[in-house]
Amino acid sequence: MIPQTHPTPAEAADLPLEKLKQYWGYDAFRPLQREAIECALAGQDSVVVLPTGGGKSLCYQVPAICKDKVAVVVSPLISLMKDQVDGLNASGIAAASINSSLSDNEKRLVAHEVETGNLQLLYMAPERLVLPATIDFLKRVGVAFFAIDEAHCISSWGHDFRPEYRQLGELKKHFPGVSVHAFTATATERVRADIARQLNLETANTLVGSFDRENLLYRVHRRGDTLTQMREVIDRHKDQAGIVYCISRKEVENVAATLNELGYKAKPYHAGLTVGERTNHQDDFINERVDIIVATVAFGMGIDKSNVRFVVHSGMPKSLEAYQQESGRAGRDGLQSECTLLYSGGDLMMWKRMQSDPGAGSQELLEAMYSYCTRNLCRHRMLVEYFGQKFEKSDCGGCDVCLNELQTVPDSLVVAQKIISCVHRVNQRFGVGHVAKVLTGSGAARIRELGHDKLSTYGLLAEHRADTISDWIGQLVGQGFLEKSGEYSVLVISATGRAVLRGETTPVLVHNNPATKKSARVDDWEGVDRNLFELLRSKRKETAMAKGVPPFVIFHDASLRDMAKLRPSSIDAFERVSGVGEKKVTDYGETFIACILDYCQQHGVPTDQAVAGAMSASTSPPLPPKVKNKVMLDAFVLFDQGKSVAEVAAQLDRALSTTGQYLGKYIAARQITDPGRWLPPDKVQTIRKAIDQVGTLERLAPIKELLDDDVSYEEIRIVVDCVKVETGFSMS
Ligand code: ADP
Ligand code: ZN
Repeated sequence: MIPQTHPTPAEAADLPLEKLKQYWGYDAFRPLQREAIECALAGQDSVVVLPTGGGKSLCYQVPAICKDKVAVVVSPLISLMKDQVDGLNASGIAAASINSSLSDNEKRLVAHEVETGNLQLLYMAPERLVLPATIDFLKRVGVAFFAIDEAHCISSWGHDFRPEYRQLGELKKHFPGVSVHAFTATATERVRADIARQLNLETANTLVGSFDRENLLYRVHRRGDTLTQMREVIDRHKDQAGIVYCISRKEVENVAATLNELGYKAKPYHAGLTVGERTNHQDDFINERVDIIVATVAFGMGIDKSNVRFVVHSGMPKSLEAYQQESGRAGRDGLQSECTLLYSGGDLMMWKRMQSDPGAGSQELLEAMYSYCTRNLCRHRMLVEYFGQKFEKSDCGGCDVCLNELQTVPDSLVVAQKIISCVHRVNQRFGVGHVAKVLTGSGAARIRELGHDKLSTYGLLAEHRADTISDWIGQLVGQGFLEKSGEYSVLVISATGRAVLRGETTPVLVHNNPATKKSARVDDWEGVDRNLFELLRSKRKETAMAKGVPPFVIFHDASLRDMAKLRPSSIDAFERVSGVGEKKVTDYGETFIACILDYCQQHGVPTDQAVAGAMSASTSPPLPPKVKNKVMLDAFVLFDQGKSVAEVAAQLDRALSTTGQYLGKYIAARQITDPGRWLPPDKVQTIRKAIDQVGTLERLAPIKELLDDDVSYEEIRIVVDCVKVETGFSMS
């Protein structure tokens, strides 16, 4: 878990932290979030680099709700915008996106919300933002700041260059006084500098987080029986979400079909499917109708699913950049997840053949990837150092090497010396297969013809199989002690290889199929009632389906685990669950508490375990009860005195929209059915008519569409909240 800093009492009074608690239900910021937020609040341009799952979105969402004007977020894909907007709305934050999937009417509504100052975050694609009409509109209404998500798309050095991002460089020209904040997970220095240059950010603050994904457990196996090796991983994560990456479409189809025959729920995903098929399969995965997606690397960009528990690669990716990206889709919620990579020496050769433009660059990337597979050094360390950061720990506690899962060959040095001298004896003119045969003492005719049966190294490793030896040779190549040279890939000895012969350095050789795994990791399931977790998961799925949103928009897995651990029996206790903000307490508190109570009574499990914020902000001190609600309670008192929303907002120094939400809760708490205290009767009547016509209380937009512009969302909400009380309507 990423370490957290304790908030001091002085800090606890600050606005960003207050918002974090109120809307997201988190107790502390993650590393660099506060710094990034402060840049946005101070109007200081910034480039923020945090790994996947590091919490980049909060870095612009929190300041956006602290500001009066709208914050504009640039995002490359509609699906990404949609997930974020859904998530924000579910937490009670006014956000919307403008994109090509909206009708003209819907677009007008969003624009109206911006104009009336009701919207806090507006998402759009770069090509729309740079349209003259959009620029004019935004100049007119005023922008708090621009946040550029996936900012590496602006750089042609990055892995996902999008030409339409280039025009964002003009933002600074059009909006000289408005700050621009770029966010990316891409680690390379060159891309980072390019982002700032392309966006014309002259004095941007650059914030770079640690690239280590502490919650990911990395494993590398040489490929044997691929299906068995994959199933071993899948079975460790029964009924959980995972991605299996394959190199070819054909393999994707085969693996998906086989997994389904074996009773797993899997869907294929590759560029050969129709757009419709791909969308359906992706939706099935996101909405938990299937557990596994089997995919080529075409899959992943544009999904924000936070609870992917494992990623398996059936073959070696073509670079560590790609591996970081693909494996990084696991565990975005910060919970432990597994990334297992299966590889063979053949993968390296295949990539080399496939690369149409064998520029030196791509070869280097391939070698680095292969070396990750074969060096048998801490995987976390290799990744972090590859991306140019120091790794301070000697034992990461989260990879197959540090967990001692690899069976190292006890006399690695001697074995390596035997192999390397054999390469020397055959004059560095033969490939892997031949050298392995000489070492096993093979009786093949070719060996005799060449006189290699007379070499001193002939039969030196006769007790091992040829494929085992080939494997070790592959490891020595990967570790740089041997090199493959020329068209025939003959083995030659490197400078460090000669150092091995002199006994000055020792390679790490491991056995082919490591014995499996009793992971010695600290388990983040500790204290969690697993059956209750599963029950809450199906409750979440049911709720999500009814609402038409993905399950993780309702609650993240981390929150469900925290619920299954704390087992809150009251609203007060429920508020302490990590990732549960005020709106979620109101919307889902009752339903989930009922579920927990039922379960605990039936199974004699104690409720109200007193650990606060256990899953995410693990070291934060427990909050005093009710602190989250203090302002809301003050608002209740003022509402009781008959004050209007505007008066209460002014008195408590809160936004109108926030105060509007307090009023919603007030109406529910006091069981008020008559909106007459806040609205004139004729207005109430028109709104009620529109509600009847639409026939649902779930969404305000369609109601708003039927009404004149002078009826605001706030007013509609008041009537809807009263009707809800009247009809006993429950949000879940
Ligand atoms: P990124 O965009 O960097 O990949 P996200 O913004 O999607 O990361 O955040 C990843 C996960 O971490 C989300 O589930 C988010 O709710 C959670 N998260 C973000 N900030 C915090 C925090 N301060 N405390 C606890 N969880 C957080
Ligand atoms: Zn390690």
